[in-house]
Amino acid sequence: MAGDAPLIRLNNGIEVTGETKCYFDPRKIKADAINCISHAHSDHLPRSFEVHKAIASAVTLRCASERVKRTIGPDQSDRVEMHDAGHIIGSQMFMLKDSHKVLYTGDLCPQDRMGMTGARPVKTDILLIEATYGRPKYVFPHRDKIAGIMRDWVEDNLAQGHPVALMTYALGKSQALARYFSDLEPYLHGSVWSTTKIVEECCGDPFSCRQYDADKMDGPFLMISPMDGRASDFRSYWHKRGMRFAVVTGWVMDGWWKRSFGVDEGFPLSDHADFPELIEFVRGCSPSRVYTTHGFAEELAASIQEKLGIEALPLQRKQRSLVEY
Ligand SMILES: [Zn+2]
Repeated sequence: MAGDAPLIRLNNGIEVTGETKCYFDPRKIKADAINCISHAHSDHLPRSFEVHKAIASAVTLRCASERVKRTIGPDQSDRVEMHDAGHIIGSQMFMLKDSHKVLYTGDLCPQDRMGMTGARPVKTDILLIEATYGRPKYVFPHRDKIAGIMRDWVEDNLAQGHPVALMTYALGKSQALARYFSDLEPYLHGSVWSTTKIVEECCGDPFSCRQYDADKMDGPFLMISPMDGRASDFRSYWHKRGMRFAVVTGWVMDGWWKRSFGVDEGFPLSDHADFPELIEFVRGCSPSRVYTTHGFAEELAASIQEKLGIEALPLQRKQRSLVEY
């Protein structure tokens, strides 16, 4: 790479220091730098604040403010461009335009789906890319096929008189499922309901769904609930009443995942790129150097070097749980 490349390291999220200092998905919003929030999943949100503003989409600012119980206002910089990341509603990638262009993807999905535009590669000098499913074994089945199998499973169970719960992430996948099953007017449990109401406000497009209320519910129905451990009160209450449970996440590609949740079924629908999509995304961006982060960073970096001949290095940090992605 010509000229001095910016310093890139794990420090308060990802710190990039060149002509401009920038934090991507920082834990602390700092006053002396540009702060960018890619989306409102908890592992990407700030926890403390020197100032209360960041570059992010309006939806992300609204959802993030709700989750961290502080109002985060919009910031802007003529050095930062936003591009759709296609991961969840409001998710964005950021292009920092200094002497070297640096693209940070956050979590990304390249597929157009459920009214959302997928991430498109952007030419860059340096690419910072997520590696959640960065192992070659993660190749997702076709999304429409899995959705069809899931619908058959839901409708068969309802026809047999069983209530059904689909367990997934409160922000993103829950709203996608609520849209997909709008004909069944699903009940939304707790945080799924409150999150969906915020999304509804932001996008101005009402959902056809109902609020969960255990006292008023009887007979077969579909519910969308947050992912929860085996021992929750909700699980045991409805298990005794014949409910069938399924988890909806890309992680069910690993067989142990479904078993560890003690559920009846699992559907590998993901809001992330799978391994081949990550490789193709990198190819499309034509970077001189790649840094991988979140998830299987080492494996993805090695594969990028081997398959594309592009210098690639992992940026690693102590993540608490892959479930949070
Ligand atoms: Zn995410």
